[in-house]
Amino acid sequence: MSSGKGMEGSQHREVVLEIEHIQVVRKRAKTQLAICRECKSTTDFITLPRAAELFSTSTSDLFEFTQSYGCHFRVENGQDILLCLTDLLTAMSKRMRTGTVKLLGEKL
Ligand SMILES: [Zn+2]
Repeated sequence: MSSGKGMEGSQHREVVLEIEHIQVVRKRAKTQLAICRECKSTTDFITLPRAAELFSTSTSDLFEFTQSYGCHFRVENGQDILLCLTDLLTAMSKRMRTGTVKLLGEKL
């Protein structure tokens, strides 16, 4: 009684799939290696203007952000602010997570 075709009798239907593509943006940034006192190791440091460009924000906004998070930084030549990239990225990821939680709260 077995038929030769496995697909015989099966119903065809159409399904809808939603595939979310997460956009990944790759950016290059010039950094300089220096010892971070807080990290207690050699890390990448990025100047404040370069970091602001990287995250598409203004230097003043970024500086305010790094201050509120207590991001690692060093000052060179008595005026140039360099940010510890490792710490900055950690703070940035934290901010993104906080933003998501906030959004869910507003919907409830
Ligand atoms: Zn650091």
